[in-house]
Amino acid sequence: MNDCIFCKIRDGIIPSEKLYEDEEVFVIRDIEPKAKYHYLMIPKRHFKLLSEMTKEDEAMLSRALAKIPTLAPGLGLENGYRIIINQGDDAGQTVFHLHIHILGGEKLPV
Ligand code: 5GP
Ligand code: ZN
Repeated sequence: MNDCIFCKIRDGIIPSEKLYEDEEVFVIRDIEPKAKYHYLMIPKRHFKLLSEMTKEDEAMLSRALAKIPTLAPGLGLENGYRIIINQGDDAGQTVFHLHIHILGGEKLPV
């Protein structure tokens, strides 16, 4: 039984509007936004941490990062954005399915 919330969103078991989706990743709004716009880009393949990546995951993550600037204007992020990938307890990671936070839409605190 997979209790992962992002796998359930991926599979449509938990409803969440997918703002972008392709064969490798999807983008949703964070349920508790920490900025005016706060998105999550989530790889479809479940893995917890950067340290668990396969060579194929490495290539997928590189492609995922390259997609962000092409999606940014449509997400209201034309003035810039911040990318965060929390890893482990000290970073406050709460969902152990790797994901990329994308924050913007306003001046972010340094
Ligand atoms: P982490 O703390 O693991 O880096 O980030 C997990 C993020 O997922 C948090 O910012 C949290 O608000 C978000 N989140 C948790 N559950 C849900 C959910 O059911 N739907 C959405 N859209 N975001 C969620
Ligand atoms: Zn998962």
